[in-house]
Amino acid sequence: MAKTRRKNLSRQKESLAFEAFSGDEQDKRREKNLARDLRRTRWWKEKLAQGICHYCKGTFAPEELTMDHVVPLAQGGKSVKQNLVCACKNCNTEKSYQYSMDFENSRQEEQGPDPDQDENS
Ligand SMILES: [Zn+2]
Repeated sequence: MAKTRRKNLSRQKESLAFEAFSGDEQDKRREKNLARDLRRTRWWKEKLAQGICHYCKGTFAPEELTMDHVVPLAQGGKSVKQNLVCACKNCNTEKSYQYSMDFENSRQEEQGPDPDQDENS
């Protein structure tokens, strides 16, 4: 009985990943709405029709491409045409994974050196 819910699920995951960064929720919601509006524009449809992934330069069917913020909303990126590109699903997934790794790393660095170092030996 499994219906084709996959698309919705992956879209949910994508937005959850961004929300995990927290920050100014209202700002991000506004930018997300702007992005959604831009998805309906002829500009975006033409980009989809070109079918080129910004990252791997591969050619894809429009339904295989997602809208991607070059500078993620979580890092202060805006939903403007200059910041929006087509990304294939692979690149999109890889990119958000990389950003979350960077995020974790920078958090660890802020904590400074390990205080448990034994200085008495
Ligand atoms: Zn790609």
